[in-house]
Amino acid sequence: MTNGFLNSRYNRQEQMPEWGVERQKRLAKARVAVIGAGGVKSTLLMSLVAGGIGNIRIIEFDKVELSNLNRQLLFRTSDINKSKGKQAIKTLSDLNPEINLELIEDRVDINNIEEHLRDFDFIVEGGESLAGRNLVNEYCLKANKPFVHASAQYSYGYVFSVIPELKTACFACYFPNDHTRAVHTGPVPVNVLATSIAGSLGAVEVFKWFLGYQGNMVVNKRLCFSSLLLSEEFKYLKQKRISNCPVCSGYYKKTAKLNI
Ligand SMILES: [Zn+2]
Repeated sequence: MTNGFLNSRYNRQEQMPEWGVERQKRLAKARVAVIGAGGVKSTLLMSLVAGGIGNIRIIEFDKVELSNLNRQLLFRTSDINKSKGKQAIKTLSDLNPEINLELIEDRVDINNIEEHLRDFDFIVEGGESLAGRNLVNEYCLKANKPFVHASAQYSYGYVFSVIPELKTACFACYFPNDHTRAVHTGPVPVNVLATSIAGSLGAVEVFKWFLGYQGNMVVNKRLCFSSLLLSEEFKYLKQKRISNCPVCSGYYKKTAKLNI
């Protein structure tokens, strides 16, 4: 190739001053667990795999359905009724065979969450139920693991991260009234634009963590986008940690090492 670029897998990003060869090597050692491989996670997972996040565990129990294909870019029409996790691994390993990909075909619950997540440095939160999200939040607080929450519905969505080591606002601080309700959200209207933007923004959080830009992560605020078909608006919404949050306040007293 010309102008000093090499025809290697990561050369075009290694040429970025804020990325570089040494930081790329760090990514190869990164261990990330991703819960779910749906719409947001399709784009998110493809970004992690293309960019060189070295070790990824996908936890997914569902099958591919026709109605997934308007936004879940990992899957093809011929994948319908097949295991979503297996097809995701197939697509992703073809995209980048250098990545160590692992599939757990299971639903995360209170009895298996530690087994599924304990060997990983960063968690991409997911699952369709609020109870599942609250479970991951509480586990990550307890285990002192950072996680990102990326969500999309209709044409809007948002992303934020929780870093227990820095005592940042937890999932229950963002949604205090919902914490005790085990609501299953079920299908909602959504399109590929919203899921892909949320997935990309979620992937940015993972890369920031492993590339050494933890100080630039979306914590104590939400990065929101709304009404993309109508107004294309992006904004940050501040979110303070709730000092008497019933979930994080107890863990932060016991486990936190730093304060910001
Ligand atoms: Zn909290």
